[in-house]
Amino acid sequence: MCAKSIALDGPAGVGKSTIAKAVAKELDLIYIDTGAMFRGLSVYITDNKCDPDDRGSVAELIKNVEVKISYVEGLQHVILNGEDITDRLRTEEISQVASVISQYPEVRKKLLDLQRKMAESEDVIMDGRDIGTVVLPNADLKIFLTADPKIRAERRFKQLEEQGKRGNLTVEDIQNEMILRDKRDAERKEAPLVKAEDAVLVDTSYMDIEAVQNEIIKLFRSI
Ligand code: C5P
Repeated sequence: MCAKSIALDGPAGVGKSTIAKAVAKELDLIYIDTGAMFRGLSVYITDNKCDPDDRGSVAELIKNVEVKISYVEGLQHVILNGEDITDRLRTEEISQVASVISQYPEVRKKLLDLQRKMAESEDVIMDGRDIGTVVLPNADLKIFLTADPKIRAERRFKQLEEQGKRGNLTVEDIQNEMILRDKRDAERKEAPLVKAEDAVLVDTSYMDIEAVQNEIIKLFRSI
């Protein structure tokens, strides 16, 4: 039996992980969050006081790190050299470091095999920036999510506020941070953020999560 896969790509804050989790549950797929892997390496780089802008040092440093993914009660955990660092992945600093180091071919190469292997034996929905173009070019279904940057920033603002993690951030700060990351992701040479030719474009600006989820499920069931 051949494993099934959905590739889900799109810019920062478009709702990929929320939607992927919901679709995974409904279709009994494993959700693989590739951004978390780049974030994991960023934690290591930050802990080792390595300058993310120095490609040579980053490439040298990451040779020594073993990245593993495990699942605890259905939730993905990132293990670095045996240590579970999952609860350190989602900070503003780590987002920015991930966006810088993900430009380097050495960093992408380090994670590519792991990403592909995970999709070989299990039915998966994998989210990221280059899943439909590079990681799983033969995915059964490819979705590219987009949404107006202001709407994405407002959603993230609301989410941070609900989690009590907003701090002093304004919607504008969040929007600027997302635009900066999207620009780096889209303009880099290596595996840029771009819609695969055969991906279905879904603009979620005026859709709620359930509507997007239902659309993807409908598309998956029709293949
Ligand atoms: O998706 P998330 O925001 O967690 O990703 C963090 C960063 O990792 C992104 O801004 C992007 O630069 C990088 N990334 C990538 N390719 C992927 C997933 C994430 O370059 N497949």
